[in-house]
Amino acid sequence: MMFEASPVHFFERAPSQTELIDRFARKLTYLRISVTDRCNMRCDYCRPSADAYQAEPRSHILQFEEIERIVEVAASLGVSKVRITGGEPLVRRDLPKLIEKIASIDDITDLAMTSNATYLAKHAQELKNAGLNRINISLDTLNPLRFQKLTGGELAPVLAGIQATKNAGFVPIKLNTVLMKGINDDEVADLIDFASDIGATIRFIELMPMKQGLDWEKHYISIDDVLAQENVQARVDIALMQTGNTAARYLPLKSGKGDVGFIMPMSERFCEGCNRLRLTADGGLRSCLPADDQLNLRDLMRNGGSDEDIRSTFLRSALIKPEVGIYNFDGDTEKRSMIHIGG
Ligand code: SAM
Repeated sequence: MMFEASPVHFFERAPSQTELIDRFARKLTYLRISVTDRCNMRCDYCRPSADAYQAEPRSHILQFEEIERIVEVAASLGVSKVRITGGEPLVRRDLPKLIEKIASIDDITDLAMTSNATYLAKHAQELKNAGLNRINISLDTLNPLRFQKLTGGELAPVLAGIQATKNAGFVPIKLNTVLMKGINDDEVADLIDFASDIGATIRFIELMPMKQGLDWEKHYISIDDVLAQENVQARVDIALMQTGNTAARYLPLKSGKGDVGFIMPMSERFCEGCNRLRLTADGGLRSCLPADDQLNLRDLMRNGGSDEDIRSTFLRSALIKPEVGIYNFDGDTEKRSMIHIGG
């Protein structure tokens, strides 16, 4: 649900506050920005079945200047980390120009991007030169046919993109794998070996029930079940699992060659340590991934809203951030897909 952002009246303390602290004393310092809701792939877990997905009209999508303005205000409220995502960020023309602008904002000290890597062979160096610090790459399978079936894309350019990211000097490179029972849960050990061989860190993510083409109940598998696999136990010592409230928990590889990460949004929520806000490609400010409430920064800005209004909207978003993110399993029509929100 998109709400009108008319925060000045709503939140009287706004002008005096300089940090985004929610009702549960969490400090929000991390903004994930979707720069497009379009993608060159059509991963079944990320969007509704191909025909059912309608991208927003281009006029609804934030301009780079609008994104830059929002980040400047966010930075003045203590946001120091930005991740660019989508859709596929690199289908947005001239993305390095936006990266350069955001990288030049003083208080943004960590600028990262999530990509499917298809276009990184062409753009990795340019992104590095523009000031991007880190890249996470989605890689769900090493099997070319499986890859094609799951994503609608090709594996070879993705592998070339990973290599180009390395060559451009991005460190660390993180690979993200969404785990799906019956689709790629037999490849965990191979993916661990692949990442270790190329000096990357792989993170396995539990499948979340979003508006998606894939049947969640059929394909969900918990990290615990994956860690029970013999060939996974041969590679990591489960007793050494990190504790804490971070999104990813890491285990050292027995080989000594790096770590493996596990992200458990379903079996072990990490809401207590959540420091995130999200900006959708069409200008919705969301404080929780599965909660559909969002504040409309695009219309606020296009109707002449001031920086102070944007600031108040951020403060209001922090105020409505729920304590815990609740995933809705009942097919709620409001529910958005990852491609629409920004992953
Ligand atoms: N196109 C880019 C990419 O492929 O990395 C960025 C956008 S994608 C939506 C960002 C992340 O969301 C990816 O790591 C993807 O694996 C994850 N994702 C999408 N849908 C998901 C779901 N239902 N459950 C868990 N992770 C999901």
